Amino acid sequence: MANVTFRNVRKSFGEFVALEELDLHINEGEFVALLGPSGCGKSTTLRMLAGLEFPTSGEIMIGDRVVNDLAPGKRDIAMVFQSYALYPHMSVGENIGYPLKKRGIKGRERDDAVQKAAELLQLDALLDRKPKQLSGGQQQRVALGRALVRDPQVFLLDEPLSNLDAKLRSYMRAELIELHRRLGKTMVYVTHDQLEAMTMASRIAVMHGGRVQQFDTPDAIYNRPANRFVAGFIGTPPMNQVEGTVEGGHFITGGHKVPIDRSAYADALRDGPVVLGVRPEAITIGKGEGLPATVRLAENTGHETIVTLELPDRTRISARVEAARRLDVGHSVALTFDPDAIHLFEASATGARL
Ligand code: ATP
Repeated sequence: MANVTFRNVRKSFGEFVALEELDLHINEGEFVALLGPSGCGKSTTLRMLAGLEFPTSGEIMIGDRVVNDLAPGKRDIAMVFQSYALYPHMSVGENIGYPLKKRGIKGRERDDAVQKAAELLQLDALLDRKPKQLSGGQQQRVALGRALVRDPQVFLLDEPLSNLDAKLRSYMRAELIELHRRLGKTMVYVTHDQLEAMTMASRIAVMHGGRVQQFDTPDAIYNRPANRFVAGFIGTPPMNQVEGTVEGGHFITGGHKVPIDRSAYADALRDGPVVLGVRPEAITIGKGEGLPATVRLAENTGHETIVTLELPDRTRISARVEAARRLDVGHSVALTFDPDAIHLFEASATGARL
């Protein structure tokens, strides 16, 4: 087991800067997700840790070793890819045992290690099959098995579930959580799927534009997003963002006052433009007092209804209400926001939390 450190790591491809000033410290035994939209640099981060890419500057450490110039095979890591990368002509058992064969481990010792990994992943009945005789989920378990037998200090996983259908993904999420609990090994997991990151990781590094926007627990990422990007990336639908101004300690949008808990902001509440963030579940749709809005769409998913509302300045926001609630499209309503669930951000594009 080992911790992992990125210290002031920068990575460019020619002129293009893919990552700037990456600083991350991952504790021994932690399950960390690197989460972000396509192109944010999460795979490059993982590939540098694996030794498949090299940093332009800065330091990468596994345990107390600087690994910048160390070949992948010397890093004591195992990587699982989205594509599984299984050998089609080899059986499940041979695929799992391959890393040991390469290391010259033979006979009983290799068989026992393969058997142990296969049992852990419930593949013991399938050891003689070829990859093409397996389901996607079983193939992914073989890829995991091949990583497991190496008994690495750190597991690296690059979108390992993205080729699976929704049901199998949810099953494999649970399997991976259980596997991490049993092994207690450091795991670094790349995904663009917030559900995977939120449910599996002990901490999430939310990345965007080559920078880590926030590195924190799932709870903090959801309840205390560091900036507008994180607020707008996490949650389905994500946090609503309403532009307005602070005037005399109040939030005003389109001439309407929205009550906020002023004690939560102390000195930060200077007069000027700000963005108010409020999650769909913190909005109450009523009549009379409140922010005026028009119902534009009501989508009943079976267990809840997501309502799209339009504010007088044309901003669209989402609210979550119980499935049985009937709301007519085109009708005027009045919105109130739970004052304890309001977030304020600077009005700039990235908008730091106030
Ligand atoms: P995805 O989810 O699409 O895989 P990502 O967050 O993993 O995205 P990276 O693959 O890390 O993103 O790429 C980060 C940026 O670096 C992207 O803009 C990408 O185009 C660029 N990039 C990656 N590899 C190279 C390369 N070998 N040469 C030039 N640019 C590259």
